[in-house]
Amino acid sequence: PFFSLPLRLALSSRRPRIYDPTCDSRAVHRSYSANNYHRTPSPQPSPYLLAKLRDYESLHRRCGPLSESIDPTLNPREFRTDDCKFVVYSPSQGLGNRILGLSSTFLYALLTNRVLLVDFGPDMEDLFCEPFPNSTWYLPETFPFLFQLQTHRFRASYSYGNLLKKKEEEQNKGGKIDQDGDSSSSPALLQIFLQDKYNEYDKLFFKDENQGFVERVPWLVLIHDGYFIPCLFQMQSFRSELEKLFPDQETVFHHLVKYLFSPSNQAWGHITGFYEAYLAKAEQRIGFQIRVFEPKQTPFTAVMKQITSCTQKHRLILPQSDEVTLRNGTSKSILVASLSRKYYEEIDWMYGRRRRQATGIAVYQASHEGKQHSGDNSHNMKAWMDIYLLSTSDVLVTSSMSTFGYVAAGIAGVKPWIVMIPDPYHPRGADESACERAINLEPCFHFPPWFAYPDPPGTGGPVGRCEDVSWGLKLV
Ligand code: GDP
Repeated sequence: PFFSLPLRLALSSRRPRIYDPTCDSRAVHRSYSANNYHRTPSPQPSPYLLAKLRDYESLHRRCGPLSESIDPTLNPREFRTDDCKFVVYSPSQGLGNRILGLSSTFLYALLTNRVLLVDFGPDMEDLFCEPFPNSTWYLPETFPFLFQLQTHRFRASYSYGNLLKKKEEEQNKGGKIDQDGDSSSSPALLQIFLQDKYNEYDKLFFKDENQGFVERVPWLVLIHDGYFIPCLFQMQSFRSELEKLFPDQETVFHHLVKYLFSPSNQAWGHITGFYEAYLAKAEQRIGFQIRVFEPKQTPFTAVMKQITSCTQKHRLILPQSDEVTLRNGTSKSILVASLSRKYYEEIDWMYGRRRRQATGIAVYQASHEGKQHSGDNSHNMKAWMDIYLLSTSDVLVTSSMSTFGYVAAGIAGVKPWIVMIPDPYHPRGADESACERAINLEPCFHFPPWFAYPDPPGTGGPVGRCEDVSWGLKLV
């Protein structure tokens, strides 16, 4: 209350950051055996992936912000680093999108021997523990291109797409195009713009023949908010390394999210407090994640109809029919994560309050924020808490197209039932079922470039269709 906003922001961004060995959640979050929070044991990572992560950690220590490699006295135009290259992740959209985007960027960093740095604002403060030992992933204030980053929400003049477009225009005028020339012709900084509205030039980043040029640029800034890993699997440049890292390619995201995103001590305090009070003792935990993108145009009853027909058809809550009571003493807890309180109230009415004695079911909601906020740290903290609490479910019911649900399922290691939420912009056919069980833990990439689709369709190799987005791609 004593500080004006800009001063508070300045203070928070100056806090020293370093890997915290006491991160309370890390041992549980990264554990592969079943534990108090996640009852499903996790698939083990490959020894090759573990070795790659250890190599990455030493690269990060050697080249990262606490090393000497980033010299702030250099003129940005001249800025080169000898043997260290970087990729900066700049967030946009909601927390689910950010976690998918950051996971994809980290895998790209692993594949290309780059150091991952994050350009988090105050709204992302204190959500996660630092993942890389004895270092930090925060972009240092001495980053030589801070000014250029200010415009990062948009396609920058130094974006790769713009460069390719300009080169094509020059070539059409009969000029010389120098895409594969020596390293002196490559820029020090390149923005890779991969937002959902990226254009045909931006998409060429995913072409094998362009990786040689990108590889020579010391600083990349990636602007995107989706899970583009299926496209990396479609590129010959990375395919064999990816197959060694992930012999089981249906758990790529699961391994990345477990490695990168341990809740901070503050977040862990909120999560475990709620968990111990309401969820820990239940014999079965069921998580509902209800995300309605257009609440004003989407009738509440239509959403509830989809949810109840899914749960009844697949007997997700009660074993036989809604009227059958549970075995004596059985207890179930249902967590409803949603921006709205109405879904919680309705589910509580159906299964909790009205028949609690008979069913042993209790229904909870940790927060109901009303609508999505941007730039709000406590809102993001609640979102992270909801995602994590959902991940402790034994049975998960998520919403179509929602990255929030993909992340919860990825951490849980539980294949969710994805409810097809009515969407005024993408109406579904009458014959479509209310929900579909996800075939694996992989998120859907919603906006792949046309050339990443398997040709002919159905012969996808590592990629195939998503359950919930007909134009999306996922690892299968
Ligand atoms: P998506 O839009 O469903 O793909 O998920 P995102 O996480 O990218 O963006 C939605 C944002 O809205 C979240 O990050 C939260 O800020 C907010 N939000 C949506 N659903 C919930 C919810 O169930 N609980 C909480 N606490 N926040 C939510």
